[in-house]
Amino acid sequence: MYDVIIIGRGPAGLSAALYVVRAGQSALVVAQDDGQIAKAEKVDNYYGFSETTSGPELQKNALAQARRLGVDFAEGTVTGIVWDDHFRVSSAEGEWEARAVILATGMPKRKSRLQGLDLYEGKGVSYCATCDGFFYRGKTVGVIGNADYALHEIHDLVPFAGSIFWLTNGRPVALSKPLVSLPDKTSIDERPLAKVDGDGEVLREIVFEDGCRTHVDGIFVAEGTASATDFALKLGIETAGNAIRTDRDGRTNLPGFFAAGDCTGGILQISVAVGEGATAGLAAAKFVREKKAEEKKAAT
Ligand SMILES: Cc1cc2nc3c(=O)[nH]c(=O)nc-3n(C[C@H](O)[C@H](O)[C@H](O)COP(=O)(O)OP(=O)(O)OC[C@H]3O[C@@H](n4cnc5c(N)ncnc54)[C@H](O)[C@@H]3O)c2cc1C
Repeated sequence: MYDVIIIGRGPAGLSAALYVVRAGQSALVVAQDDGQIAKAEKVDNYYGFSETTSGPELQKNALAQARRLGVDFAEGTVTGIVWDDHFRVSSAEGEWEARAVILATGMPKRKSRLQGLDLYEGKGVSYCATCDGFFYRGKTVGVIGNADYALHEIHDLVPFAGSIFWLTNGRPVALSKPLVSLPDKTSIDERPLAKVDGDGEVLREIVFEDGCRTHVDGIFVAEGTASATDFALKLGIETAGNAIRTDRDGRTNLPGFFAAGDCTGGILQISVAVGEGATAGLAAAKFVREKKAEEKKAAT
């Protein structure tokens, strides 16, 4: 088990990882790519550079620094985080365990703009299979999305739903690992979607761009990659709009779960992400030290 798993290897994630390992705790960074910093061609407002630098240059150096100091890395898109005395973080590539987690996943994605989703949110439209799957026992549901996260949500729905439409909305299924077989009860429909529809109170149908309508009792939106707000919903973590709510040390309302960088809102800048990563890393290391002391006491 790792002491701390950090999700995201942007400035917030890497800064957090440095502080965790330098505080003597083990750290694994799981990320799918280099994040926003890879797009910053010219950076002139980061401390300590007499000449213009670039995001990729900063990132290359930060990755080398983290490796030198003993941070472990795994490539992958995290689809699920479960808490049960400790944390289990899963992706298509594997599952890892840790005493604490720091979320540094960058700016949360915007919600889908598909017509009708807002109107039926809570009336048949859900963004969390773990939270709401139970209410669809024996019912017909659709899952919108074409990547690993949609498949993860489908797996969470299989024990409850009667049948599941995997709605890729005009895109092919794109998973990080080839799909060996479709989950039980699931069929794929790749047609582009036009809207979700109902009687104003309850969701009833999904409407395709070709005009066809299909009855559904529920729609689960799982487009693209799971973002900070998706994880927050599943873990009962407080948010403020689209951002994770934390205290000044990056603590969320779930003990052992921290957040840093763009996913906490505020000023979306490298310097801020680095600073928040540092405080969250220190707070997570302190949490782990105290947890280990409790574990030791319980064992004697
Ligand atoms: C074009 C552009 C130019 C910019 N220029 C500047 C500038 O000049 N100065 C400045 O200070 N700031 C600039 N910024 C902003 C800056 O890049 C961000 O504020 C900063 O990168 C935020 O860091 P972060 O670590 O919070 O998030 P990010 O850098 O976005 O990193 C997020 C990380 O989370 C990972 N991730 C997300 N979801 C998952 C998941 N489900 N599973 C696994 N991994 C996941 C991503 O792969 C990535 O590694 C610029 C941004 C852009 C887009």
